[in-house]
Amino acid sequence: MTRFTTSLLLLLFLNLTAFGQTPKDKGLQTITMKSVKSPVQFLASDQLEGRMAGTKQGQIAGEYVASLFSFIGLEPVGDSVSFKPDRYQKLLGAEKRKTTSFSQPFQAIEVTPDTIQKLALVTTSDKSTLKKEYAYKADFRVTIPNGSSQISAPVVFVGYGLTDEKSGYDDFNKVDVKNKIVVRWAGLPGDGFQNSQAAKAITGPEGRVLERLKNKQAKEHGALAILEVASGTQISHWNANQYYFHNTMYEGVKKRKSFYDKRVYLPNTGDGNIPVIYISPSVFSDIMGPEFQNTQARKKASELKNVSQAVSGKTIELAINTRNRRLQLRNVLGKIEGKEKNKFIVIGAHYDHLGIHDGYIWNGADDNASGVSAVLNIAKAMLASKVQPEYTILFACWDGEERGLLGSHYFVNHWSNMDEIMAYLNFDMIGRNAGPEAPDNQVTMIYSKAFQPAVTLSKQHISDYNLNLDVSYNGSEKPDSGSDNVWFVKDNVPLFWFHTGGQPDYHQPTDVPEMINYTKMANIIRLSYLDIFELSTNPESWK
Ligand SMILES: [Zn+2]
Repeated sequence: MTRFTTSLLLLLFLNLTAFGQTPKDKGLQTITMKSVKSPVQFLASDQLEGRMAGTKQGQIAGEYVASLFSFIGLEPVGDSVSFKPDRYQKLLGAEKRKTTSFSQPFQAIEVTPDTIQKLALVTTSDKSTLKKEYAYKADFRVTIPNGSSQISAPVVFVGYGLTDEKSGYDDFNKVDVKNKIVVRWAGLPGDGFQNSQAAKAITGPEGRVLERLKNKQAKEHGALAILEVASGTQISHWNANQYYFHNTMYEGVKKRKSFYDKRVYLPNTGDGNIPVIYISPSVFSDIMGPEFQNTQARKKASELKNVSQAVSGKTIELAINTRNRRLQLRNVLGKIEGKEKNKFIVIGAHYDHLGIHDGYIWNGADDNASGVSAVLNIAKAMLASKVQPEYTILFACWDGEERGLLGSHYFVNHWSNMDEIMAYLNFDMIGRNAGPEAPDNQVTMIYSKAFQPAVTLSKQHISDYNLNLDVSYNGSEKPDSGSDNVWFVKDNVPLFWFHTGGQPDYHQPTDVPEMINYTKMANIIRLSYLDIFELSTNPESWK
């Protein structure tokens, strides 16, 4: 026997167990239909009542995940918990001890607007002072602020209230808004003027992202509050809601209570804490006065001209009332330590969902009991392979995703060194088909363009293991849409994310376990495990 064949045999021996399996295969075989299905059936059961973050059922869901982390043999990575015996316990022999838990607890503030809100315009001239009070929900609406506040301040009109560096458009360079209330139009300069300079030069963002950007800019300039004149759609929405509430899923005499009636934020993140009030066009014209030519001013702004102006002799009085509640939330964190302790691959999925409203349970089977099952199954399979990975694998189940990506935000804010995180794998909804007619093996992989190994490995594994999956690979510079991946993108962590897409039951009480395509889900989990096995145990696979 040559030395070459000896070492070849040795290699074979090391790679094969008594049953002729490689460690990688051994892990793979622990991912079964039963192991994939059972976490979904528990988490999305009616007993868990939609596991809304901050409720008892949300806490039970977290406790369940922590218990399974411990059961399958992960090491805890959460906060340390100390036990200090009292006198009686000491007599019985109990000792002081400190242990690491699977929980990373954190707090968030939940804000609900109260039924009474006040907005008044005070006009002062040489002869008189006139105060006009407006009707809440008829003349103005309050977007959910961070808390109650009473503000009385002069008004400044700031056009669209936007600074756009690229085009040089700046609504703030002519006026001082510090300690004042700003009044602005909704939307972007150029809206309604299709071929204008502004329409060509300023193309985005839109919707809430735009609103958040504009709020941030107003706040940075020192404004105390924002009054935004409602756009056409907001006005029609008000009218439509006056007697009957309509949307595609629900008709009723009253708007159904919703999860979106409240706002939740992490304290100390400086997250949007400036009051924003939508005012009707009539309030707007009261503020601006009869001489103000609205259409002409908009046209001017569409030519990238500054139309901002102080509004003299006018003060706005605001009284915003909210009810606040502190929520106790927690992430669940466990790990398999690698040979390099301080290099991490993070695998995460949120375990919270939308709760229960007006007697309907939002079970959240696809969103995101399916993702939690993936995290649990990958952890179990990695441990069953019995290979110590090169890098530490951190398994994370996030709380509060549905209430503003809170858990992952907290985690990223409190992780000492984000450079240690080599990659993030996110799961959010991997259990459904796009619709009744859609093929039953489709899945999208969203990934950071710079992270090619995720694609190479996945393609290789699908063919090597005959996985019935049709993957659309969707790479971008900044894959920062809609889930816990957002915060990792901010720190430039390479990531990939499996997602079976929106479906008719998305964020509806009908997202139930019975509708899950478990065959596809199991294959996505198998594929993810195979990718993670390579990435964590084989440094060559990163090349
Ligand atoms: Zn989700």
